[in-house]
Amino acid sequence: MDFGIDGKWALVCGASKGLGHGCAEALVREGVNVVLNARNADDLQRAAAYLVAASSDWVAVKGGKNPPCILTVAADITTAQGRAAAFSVAGGPGKDFDIVVTNAGGPPTGDFRDWGREDWMRAVDANMLTPIELIRATVDGMAQRGFGRIVNITSSAVKAPIDILGLSNGARSGLTGFVAGAARSAAIAGRGVTINNLLPGKFETDRLTGTLSAAAAKTGKDLDEVRRAQLSMIPARRFGTPQEFGAICAFLCSVQAGYITGQNVLADGGAYPGTF
Ligand code: NAP
Repeated sequence: MDFGIDGKWALVCGASKGLGHGCAEALVREGVNVVLNARNADDLQRAAAYLVAASSDWVAVKGGKNPPCILTVAADITTAQGRAAAFSVAGGPGKDFDIVVTNAGGPPTGDFRDWGREDWMRAVDANMLTPIELIRATVDGMAQRGFGRIVNITSSAVKAPIDILGLSNGARSGLTGFVAGAARSAAIAGRGVTINNLLPGKFETDRLTGTLSAAAAKTGKDLDEVRRAQLSMIPARRFGTPQEFGAICAFLCSVQAGYITGQNVLADGGAYPGTF
C-alpha cells in the first residue's frame, strides 16, 4: 500500500535507537524526509548512516527515484534550545514539519516515596510538556497547509499502570488528557491534522532491558527469570520489535489514517486484559 506521504518532512525525536528509530526507519521506507533527533551525536550519526545506506534500496523497490533527505540534530529535545535546534537544522523545513513523532526516553523506575518535586518536574517536562511544546510549535502550520500527523510515543502504562514506573504513569496521563482535547478541536481535526498516542507494551529495546534489570534488582531475582516471567504474561509470548512499532507509526502518519485522531493505539501482544 502506498501511504501517500512520500516527500513529506518528519521530525522524529529519540530516533537513534529503539522505538524512535523504528518509526524513523518506517517513515524513510515510505520516502519521507526525516530530521532525526537524539542527544548522543555518535549514536545519531550511526543511525543516520544506516538509514542513508538502506534508503536507496527501499526507494528503488517502491519504484521511486530520489532517496529521502536524512538530517540529524544532536540535542536534548526536552530543552527549549534542543527544540530550537531541531527547528533550525540546515536543509530542514524549519517549523513546517508535516509529521512529528514525539519521544524522549522514559523516566527512571523507583518508589514514589523517594521522588521529590525535582524528579516529578523532570518527568513532567520530558513526557508531558515536551510533546505539548512540539505540538504547539508545529500544529498550526500543519493546519494552514491542510495536512499534519503527530504521533506521541507514550506507554501501555497509561492504560495499565506499572508500579515501579510511577513517574511515567503520572506524567504520561497528563499528556494523554491534553491530546484527547486538543486533537478534537475543529482548528486541528477540521483541517486535516491528526494527533494520536502510540502506546508500547513491551518492546525489545535498551529501555526494556533497563526496566527489567530494575525489576530484577528490586525483587532479588535474576534477569533471565524476570524476562521469562514477563514473557509468560504476554499472550503473544514474545516482546515486540521496533520495526513492528515503526510500521504502526507510519500507518498513523499515512493519508489513509486521516480519520483516526485523538486515539490511544496500544501495541502490546495482547497483554492488556480489558475488552476496550
Ligand atoms: P531507548 O531504546 O532507550 O531509546 C531512547 C531514544 O531516545 C534514544 O535514541 C535516546 O538517545 C533518545 N533520547 C532519550 N532522551 C532524549 C532526550 N532528552 N532528547 C532527545 N532524545 C532522547 O528507549 P525505547 O524503548 O525506544 O523507548 C522510547 C519511549 O517509549 C520511552 O519514553 C519509553 O519509556 C517508552 N516505552 C518503551 C517501552 C519498551 O518496551 N521499550 C514500553 C513502554 C514505554 P540519547 O540517549 O542519545 O538521547
